[in-house]
Amino acid sequence: MVYRITSECICCGSCLHECPVEAITEEPEIFVIDPEKCNDCVGHFEEPQCAAVCGVDACIQDFFKYTK
Ligand code: SF4
Repeated sequence: MVYRITSECICCGSCLHECPVEAITEEPEIFVIDPEKCNDCVGHFEEPQCAAVCGVDACIQDFFKYTK
C-alpha cells in the first residue's frame, strides 16, 4: 500500500528523513510522497515510518492509486 500526506500536514519535517526510499519531498506549505517511490517501507521496517512519526496523523494509505 502506498502512502500520501494530507492537508493536515503542518510541515514539521519529522517524516522527511525517516523515509528509507527518499520518497518524501518538501513543497510550499506541505510535504509530498512520490507514489512511484513509496513502497510502504516493505523490506525496511515493520510499519510505515512516515505514519509512525507523524504527530498529526497526516500520513495515510492512498487507496486512490489502486482504483485508477
Ligand atoms: Fe517512505 Fe515508508 Fe512513508 Fe512510503 S510509507 S513514504 S516508503 S516512509
